[in-house]
Amino acid sequence: RAAIQRDELSIFFQPIVDLETGRIRTFEALVRWFHPEKGELRPDEFIPVAEETGVIITLGNWITAQAAKAAAQWPEDVTIAVNLSPVQIRAPGAALGILTALRDAKLDPRRLELEVTESLFIDDNQHTARFIEDLSAEGVRFALDDFGTGYSSLGYINKFPFKKIKVDRSFVSGPNVGLKSDAIIRAVAEMGSTLEMEIVAEGLETIDQVHAVRAAGCTLGQGYYFSRAVPDYLAAMLLAQEQDSDPAARLAS
Ligand code: C2E
Ligand code: CA
Ligand code: CA
Repeated sequence: RAAIQRDELSIFFQPIVDLETGRIRTFEALVRWFHPEKGELRPDEFIPVAEETGVIITLGNWITAQAAKAAAQWPEDVTIAVNLSPVQIRAPGAALGILTALRDAKLDPRRLELEVTESLFIDDNQHTARFIEDLSAEGVRFALDDFGTGYSSLGYINKFPFKKIKVDRSFVSGPNVGLKSDAIIRAVAEMGSTLEMEIVAEGLETIDQVHAVRAAGCTLGQGYYFSRAVPDYLAAMLLAQEQDSDPAARLAS
C-alpha cells in the first residue's frame, strides 16, 4: 500500500507484434516496483504477497487505471493488455472498477484486453462467469494466459469468449523446446485459426524462434527479441518509429 503512495511502482509496457506485418498490435502492462533499499523487485515476488493480503485489489485497480491512461495516448488500433489476478476478479465490484478506469481514461473498452490464467476457473463460480460476460458485453476482450502450463482444459475455451490464447514461453524458448513443443504449438494454432482466435507465442528471444512459431501458425509474438517491457515514453517511441521505418524488417534476418 505504501509503495503506491510513495510512487515506487510503475507500469512498463511490452509490445505484442503481428507476425504477418511486424507491427505492434498490443502492449502488455507489466508492473515494476523500484524499492528504495531492495532495488527492483520482480512481480513474481510481490504479486503473490499482494494476493494473500488482498492489496492486489487496490493495486490492480491502480494498474488498470495507469495502463488505460497510457493507452489513450496511442493510435486507436493499438490495444492494451492488463493481467488480472483471480483475487481481483472475485472481489465485489470488480467489473465496475475496470469500467471506471476506462471511463476516466476515455478509453474505448474494445481497446482493453484482460489476461487471465486458468487458475481463475479452479473453483468455477458464477461470479467469474458474470464478470467475463458483463465486460465482454461492453466490448472488453479476454486472453487466456500461460496456456499449456496448467490443466489446459479445453472446457474454458468452449465456455468463455476468449479472443486470444497465449502459449506459455516454456513451449517457445528454453531447454524443453523441440519437436514435441512444436507439435503442441501447431495444434493450438490450428484450433485458434478455426475458432478465429489469435494465438500469441510468448518468450521469443531469437529470430529463429520467431520464424518457427510463425511457421507453426501463431499470429502474434512477444518477447525480448522484439523488446523488453519499457516505460511509457519508450513505448510511444516504438510506435512513432513504425511511421518512419518498415515494421516488417523486424521479422527478417
Ligand atoms: P506473464 O503475464 O506471463 O508476463 C510475461 C513475463 O515474461 C514478464 O515477466 C516478461 O517480462 C517476461 N518475458 C517477456 N518476454 C520474455 C522473453 O523473451 N524471455 C523471458 N525469459 N521472459 C520474457 P514479469 O514482468 O517479471 O512478470 C511476471 C509475471 O508477473 C507475469 O507473467 C504476470 O503473471 C505477473 N504480473 C506482472 N504484472 C502484473 C500485473 O500488473 N498484475 C498482475 N495480476 N500480475 C502481473
Ligand atoms: Ca500476461
Ligand atoms: Ca504469460
